[in-house]
Amino acid sequence: MILGYVVTGPDNDGYMLDGVNLSDTETCPACGLLLNFEYHNPDLKLRRSTFDLSHCYDLGTIVSLRLKEFCTRCNYTGIHFSSFHASQNYYQIFIDNKIELDVAKREIQFIKKCKHCKRYKEVIGATPAFLKNEEPIPDGIFASDLFFGSDNSKNPIIIVGTETREKLQAEKIKGLWFEPIYTFSQWEGNFKPKPAEQKKWYQFW
Ligand SMILES: [Zn+2]
Repeated sequence: MILGYVVTGPDNDGYMLDGVNLSDTETCPACGLLLNFEYHNPDLKLRRSTFDLSHCYDLGTIVSLRLKEFCTRCNYTGIHFSSFHASQNYYQIFIDNKIELDVAKREIQFIKKCKHCKRYKEVIGATPAFLKNEEPIPDGIFASDLFFGSDNSKNPIIIVGTETREKLQAEKIKGLWFEPIYTFSQWEGNFKPKPAEQKKWYQFW
């Protein structure tokens, strides 16, 4: 049984933090990383503004007006959007609906903890994603409780329900890639790669 999907889009060739001078109040004094990876730069200029959902190279997920309106029409709650001065009709999406991942089953790696802010320089092991609570994801848009990546390039994974995927496809929202989320036992029995293939496959995207 598929519990839901991890959804990703293409990269948009942009950096959220491009040209940004982060202030002392925005970063940890010890490790220098952002205190909040849900960072919005209103001056972001999108170089490729054709996608309905895309990711900056460092942080931030950008959606089109079309996808934003789709979310409104579906009455999806727990998400909000911020606009850009120079990229009209595109928005950064922030997802307050968090879903807890199973750190142990996925063997998520946490590397170099900062003594001051208690966060990690690197977090590896986003997909395949395993849920702490292995129940079907309801219709809506959710984010993992963890941020993956290194340094300031960190993002949660975006998770949707099976019904949400059908709606997105019916709407012909472009460029989305869906990776099924299975229960851990189902994945182990059917999809776990053989040790020889594991290294190239079983990594952070
Ligand atoms: Zn720190």
